[in-house]
Amino acid sequence: MTVASSEPTVRVRAPGKINLFLEVGPLQGDGYHQLATAFQAVSLYEDVVATASDDFTMSVAGSIDVSGVPVDETNLALRAARLLAAETGYSGGVHLDVFKEVPVAGGMGGGSADAAAALVACDTLWGTRLGSAELHRLAARLGADVPFALKGGTAIGTGRGDELSPALARGRFDWVLVVNEEGLSTPEVYAALDRHRDRHRVDISPARTLPEVDAGVLHALRAGDPAMLAEALRNDLQVAALGLRPDLAETLELGESSGALAGLVSGSGPTVAFLAASPEAAVELHDMLDASGRDVLLAHGPVKGARVIS
Ligand code: ATP
Repeated sequence: MTVASSEPTVRVRAPGKINLFLEVGPLQGDGYHQLATAFQAVSLYEDVVATASDDFTMSVAGSIDVSGVPVDETNLALRAARLLAAETGYSGGVHLDVFKEVPVAGGMGGGSADAAAALVACDTLWGTRLGSAELHRLAARLGADVPFALKGGTAIGTGRGDELSPALARGRFDWVLVVNEEGLSTPEVYAALDRHRDRHRVDISPARTLPEVDAGVLHALRAGDPAMLAEALRNDLQVAALGLRPDLAETLELGESSGALAGLVSGSGPTVAFLAASPEAAVELHDMLDASGRDVLLAHGPVKGARVIS
């Protein structure tokens, strides 16, 4: 990461996420779905370093393959910086250096974390000092997962996932993540789910109720009990992700037969997340999956949301 040393810089770190629970309501007239989700921020981080500049430019590097990440105006981090400048009337620009640990198009909200980090970094660098409610409002305009990346911890998301309420969570949860070279597009996974539901005439009539996070998830989080949480994990997008990438089923089976408490596709996939009983069990499972030739990472949650680290 190259940073011009004479200019003021701000470094912000934001986490990736796992959806512990994701219920997807029916497709609405506006093309979106109502969601009920439980997010957990995990210890894979995106760092964004903002440097004062007249223009809006950026670079991307990472511990993971970042070749699929655009560095033009379509990048969520640059869009976040532009939005903040437009909303506050700031007339200068910024150069953003993004360092990624979260797998690209992996269903772990890496781009959303970059956007959240860029908002906080520019707000600090430019001295625009928006309050957290105002930052949340801008975050929601950038994407449904961006408000959670600002907030971090463990939270319940409703609406499109952007209406957040905190969830009480005790203790630490250990995850083993199987990463895939080839990402999945979130809109394609939702479209595959709609087709699947049409084909199987799954009844999710809007007259029923709005999607809701199961009480079992909330109990397990409050108790800090991974075995209880394992029983409650659910992701409605999993069936669609498996339809698009049948090889993920084999990964799920291997992890579950190798000591994981449970496994699930993370968000829209294709990252597969396994919950382990302890940090030691996670290392053991990591090594076993690694020996099978898969690309594996360790993480734990919950961790903090976007914050200035220097
Ligand atoms: P989510 O779970 O939030 O739906 P994801 O984690 O599956 O998303 P991301 O890595 O956030 O996926 O990015 C998805 C796509 O968005 C990428 O393939 C890329 O084309 C584009 N993109 C735009 N900005 C970024 C960014 N800062 N980092 C990564 N991808 C970005």
